[in-house]
Amino acid sequence: MAEEIDWDSLTFSLTPTDTMYLTETSADDPWMPGNLRPYGPIEMSPAAGVMNYGQGLFEGMKAYRTSKGRVVFFRPEENARRMQRGADRLKMPPVPESIFVDAVEQCVQANLKWVPPTGKGAMYVRPLLMGSGAVLGVSPAPSYTFLVYVTPVGPYFKGGVTAIDLLISEEFHRAAPGGSGGVKAIGNYAPGMMPSKNAKAAGFAEVIYLDAETHTFVEEVGAANFFCVKDGVLYTPELTGTILPGITRDSIIQLARHNGMEVQETKVSAQFAMAADEAFCCGTAAVISPIGSITKGESKVTYGDGQPGSVTQQLYNQLVGIQNETLEDLFGWLHEVPL
Ligand SMILES: *Cc1c(COP(=O)(O)O)cnc(C)c1O
Repeated sequence: MAEEIDWDSLTFSLTPTDTMYLTETSADDPWMPGNLRPYGPIEMSPAAGVMNYGQGLFEGMKAYRTSKGRVVFFRPEENARRMQRGADRLKMPPVPESIFVDAVEQCVQANLKWVPPTGKGAMYVRPLLMGSGAVLGVSPAPSYTFLVYVTPVGPYFKGGVTAIDLLISEEFHRAAPGGSGGVKAIGNYAPGMMPSKNAKAAGFAEVIYLDAETHTFVEEVGAANFFCVKDGVLYTPELTGTILPGITRDSIIQLARHNGMEVQETKVSAQFAMAADEAFCCGTAAVISPIGSITKGESKVTYGDGQPGSVTQQLYNQLVGIQNETLEDLFGWLHEVPL
């Protein structure tokens, strides 16, 4: 283990590592396995499709060092498939699942000393797929790059899970029907930066986006999926194409049903959410963040007393327990990285 790494000071930010993975293909050729190379800048044409027209996708996943001494991914095949669906939408050649999973494995293996000890965080893995060939007219790039880099990140919540205060955006939407909101297109994220910054300046952790059509139903919390609990039933916005199908979201639905809880994937109005008993949001970065309050215009509701609700806490414990192997991997979600 590298002595220079101070695991306790890790946050969710970029720490450069040693090695990255890269492979390229033309639009018409099949993907071939790539190779590892030193982490660092890559060369690209100024006319690259990704830089001019945003033809690019990202993924976000974690490798955990578990209490059993193994290093595991959490459902990496799901990230591979989601990137394939995104590639179809953005007219890029989809990376085969086998190449994707091999790439993220190789990248973790090559940077093993950067995988934090159990409980100190995780190795965040960032695959990118982009149109890297030069193109002037608005059309798909002639060639593509699939790149993976990794960075160690600390636990999202230091000193225990804390509830966050959210603001419903009255002015901005994240995604429109028929658009690219359902895939991890890089272009989806820059328009959220200004609303998010403004909300943070006003004392909120993030914004909640409502649907662009009727401005009634909750879609997402920044780049995380939304859940609420009302009278013992778990509700989450249904996937209509404008919501990113989170792997954490899917895992929570499966866990809750396994626990015997009723789960409704449905339209969740802001009004309904604000009358719920518990609310939380979820994603790979924070796993589960309990929501302490939601503000919409002049009205503000609070949940519990700033402490996570009991359903939220239970789902969090189960998910984290599976990820660090203190609980049984009931659903076969863990994928061991051979060391
Ligand atoms: C990545 C992402 C999520 C969470 O997905 P996970 O697979 O759970 O990490 C939710 N919403 C948006 C917009 C995202 O980009």
